[in-house]
Amino acid sequence: MKKIIVQKFGGTSVADTEKIKNAAKIAIKEKENGNDVVVVVSAMGHTTDFLVKMAKELSSHPSDREMDMLLSTGEGVSIALLTMAIQAQGYDAVSFNAMQIGIMTEKIHSKARIIDIHTEKLRKNLNEGKIIVVAGFQGITEDGEITTLGRGGSDTSAVALASALNAERCDIYTDVEGVYTTDPRIVPKASKLKSVSYDEMLELAHAGANVLHPRSVETAKHYNVPLRVRSSFNTDNEGTLILGVEKMEIYKPVTGVASDLSQARIVVCDVPDKPGVAAKLFSKLAHENISVDMIIQSYARKVSNTNDIAFTVNLDDVPGTVSALESLKSEIGFNGEIQTNNDIAKVSIVGAGMIDRPGVASMMFEALAEQGINIKMISTSEIKISCLVDKSDADKAVKALHNVFELACDKTAEVKGDLPDV
Ligand code: ADP
Ligand code: ASP
Ligand code: MG
Repeated sequence: MKKIIVQKFGGTSVADTEKIKNAAKIAIKEKENGNDVVVVVSAMGHTTDFLVKMAKELSSHPSDREMDMLLSTGEGVSIALLTMAIQAQGYDAVSFNAMQIGIMTEKIHSKARIIDIHTEKLRKNLNEGKIIVVAGFQGITEDGEITTLGRGGSDTSAVALASALNAERCDIYTDVEGVYTTDPRIVPKASKLKSVSYDEMLELAHAGANVLHPRSVETAKHYNVPLRVRSSFNTDNEGTLILGVEKMEIYKPVTGVASDLSQARIVVCDVPDKPGVAAKLFSKLAHENISVDMIIQSYARKVSNTNDIAFTVNLDDVPGTVSALESLKSEIGFNGEIQTNNDIAKVSIVGAGMIDRPGVASMMFEALAEQGINIKMISTSEIKISCLVDKSDADKAVKALHNVFELACDKTAEVKGDLPDV
């Protein structure tokens, strides 16, 4: 049986007809290598942003259902055009949207998770020798409603398809040459990683390294799908492999730095200091499908017997969060202020090498302090430390952290085998 390779082309890789021709060539080359090929595409260029902008011009609160109806159209254009480009080169190809295949998702608009993918049609068309082009980012519920997977979700469509088809590998073609130690647009001297573990990549993606949609890494890890990030425009570069295996020896405490500008901080002031309050608050948000990231609860003030709970949510979820909290006021018995701050950013350092190495956190805090950057919240996991800072400080913070942990490409050689004292 032939091996199946799933390829995914992001918006910039199909931004115009020349780029679509280039993507077609890459798909054909893989077919010529003797493999079966399934290609997942995003909407062309900034189409999705443009559609969002138009919706917002018409309505301050467009309904989630209609947003999904609207945004799912972008990918419909690119699958047909890419298929035509492949056919024009003399190869047999066919495009399908998520409804035609049966990419089944939960009944949640704008951030649905894939539950199942029907593979019959895909297998039949592969057996007929066709290159298959599939619309990323979209799905369908069992009652026929169109859903989308969240911004950047085509990566997740590709990995889920690779897993459903038992593919040999999933190649994510994008506008950079792989996964770097930080966003190369912020730090041009960032180093490209040859490989990175699922766990580190998952943390980096959650921390805002939007080169991969976090759920694509989660799915790849869960189903053990070998994942590769590489450039659409320089296919000589083998890119970055994301794999289950850790490096035998980890020389550096930190593998990468990321920033996330899409979060907002909410502070719920003067909530009663008694059992069950946090549970009620966060289960209400979970019920509304709002994901919470960093959480801090202040020490209870003995005089008033209340405390403050601060947390972060996605900027898009701020209105929903505030109305959910307002609706809880009488039930929980609080009447304090609900403060929101949209001008914050989360900066994070990630690295399996920080386990059991004391001093990494203090190095991070010192580097930020040296730049006069104030830290508003801190959260940690085994392989990640995140600090909330002012949005205007985000790039400065990323540069300082990339520098202090010696991640620049011209430093890599020095650091290998010569661990900095941390
Ligand atoms: P696509 O349209 O192909 O899905 P994205 O814009 O979603 O592309 O993701 C690629 C972008 O991710 C890059 O252009 C880069 O600016 C950004 N990025 C952020 N962090 C990283 C990182 N650590 N490594 C590589 N790229 C990163
Ligand atoms: N077109 C969608 C977006 O811009 C999905 C994707 O590109 O992955 O978010
Ligand atoms: Mg993307």
